[in-house]
Amino acid sequence: MSERKPMIAGNWKMNLTLEQSTSLVKTIVKECGRLKGVEVLVAPPFTALSTIKEAIGDSGILLAAQNMHWELEGAYTGEISPKMLVEAGCSHVILGHSERRNLFFETNDTINLKTEAAISTGLVPIVCIGETLDQREQGQTSEVIREQLEGSLKNLLERKNLPLSTILAYEPVWAIGTGKTATPDQAQEVHQFIRHWLDENFGSRAARAIRILYGGSVKPGNIRELMSMPDIDGALVGGASLKAHSFLPIIRFQEN
Ligand code: PEP
Repeated sequence: MSERKPMIAGNWKMNLTLEQSTSLVKTIVKECGRLKGVEVLVAPPFTALSTIKEAIGDSGILLAAQNMHWELEGAYTGEISPKMLVEAGCSHVILGHSERRNLFFETNDTINLKTEAAISTGLVPIVCIGETLDQREQGQTSEVIREQLEGSLKNLLERKNLPLSTILAYEPVWAIGTGKTATPDQAQEVHQFIRHWLDENFGSRAARAIRILYGGSVKPGNIRELMSMPDIDGALVGGASLKAHSFLPIIRFQEN
């Protein structure tokens, strides 16, 4: 049996009012708090973090931010530091989401700095990688994934030291918010590639322990099949995490 506990993570992006997100998290806590076989995480917008932390209470639901700066403080107007996220109650932070890479020009270099800063501040990074449709069609998927891994984890790679709590999320760009899901076989193929890469670069212990989430139009109807794949350890869910009626069955995928 895998030593990796499944994780279902909801990325709320720039959605939900404070009232809506509080009500959603209260339902998640009521229905899914303290579930044994799965870790549940929510990533609300920055302005909702403290309120959601309070609503989560001691239910075991984990709290993540969707981004951060790599410096701890300073003259960076509009930015949020890792220290501030810890203060707001976050244990995790999503880094390098394709929307950050594509719409806000984040690069592997800045994601590398952020990953390093997250770890040294005590946050667990959820580092996102994934190819575009064009790259897939050109047969460049493995090359792109390798490049993103090498760039986003550069400092850790140099030290050959990746904390086992680190989480990777494979999110093919063409499957995010499009309704197109990678087939379980397509996703497994890339997850297996990532696990081999972890093995080659950080050793077998890291490859066995590090969780790789899949993201891209995950829904109640496809989660079970995706989770049946040996190298898929959970899901990073966007659209379907915004409503209890779609997020709860994803969290409870083991029961369906
Ligand atoms: C995401 O943005 O991380 C995501 C996977 O979105 P969706 O589930 O809506 O495709």
